[in-house]
Amino acid sequence: KKIQPKKDTYVIASDSTFAPFEFQNADGKYEGIDVDLVKRIAELQDFNIEFKFIGFSSAVQAVESGQADAMIAGMTITDEREKSFDFSTPYFNSGIQIAVKKDNDSIHSYEDLKDKKVGAKIGTESADFLEANKDKYDFSIKYLDTTDALYSALEIGEIDAMMDDYPVIGYGVAQKQPLATPIPREEGGKYGFAVKKGKNPELTQMFNEGLAELKRTGEYDEIIGKYVKDGS
Ligand code: GLN
Repeated sequence: KKIQPKKDTYVIASDSTFAPFEFQNADGKYEGIDVDLVKRIAELQDFNIEFKFIGFSSAVQAVESGQADAMIAGMTITDEREKSFDFSTPYFNSGIQIAVKKDNDSIHSYEDLKDKKVGAKIGTESADFLEANKDKYDFSIKYLDTTDALYSALEIGEIDAMMDDYPVIGYGVAQKQPLATPIPREEGGKYGFAVKKGKNPELTQMFNEGLAELKRTGEYDEIIGKYVKDGS
């Protein structure tokens, strides 16, 4: 028996540019793993959604303040976030990684970041990692709003390195972003669909049911395979 939606339309907040999870295609329409998963799950489970691609930290605030019912944004499930969100079952294994300009030949380890400026997006797992390690390795942090802004800042030399999720950097490299990843990645992050804690439990349930169905039918693998090729 299907779970009953409790709202006419659920507002789902997301990042603004986080390819291959959410990004605008050549027609200016949003697509990506997160977008396709939620759209299919909403179809299968019979509920209506409205996406708002407002950026990662704005999405967190929108859910916390009740302006959005949930978010999907390559969001890592963490103990800290579990205090204010209910997460779905994990839908993607990820982790974070440093990227530098492709022609950079001076950065090969975290030690090499000494006196350098490292960029990250506000409120992310990468930002937390950099905060926790900046004194140890003696680098400074520059916060920017989007992954695209990090790529641009790296390009013009405003930052010496950036940190972001490795499937995102891998996709950037596959799309010919001039990046190199000289330092091994930090594994272990798992993405979840997040609903404000204690609110709309039916929405989390519908997501979980729909995700399980997409995994059963192989459609989950098709969606991932559409965006992530082997080795990236
Ligand atoms: N996975 C990272 C986090 O949860 C980054 C998410 C993002 O930038 N959209 O913090």
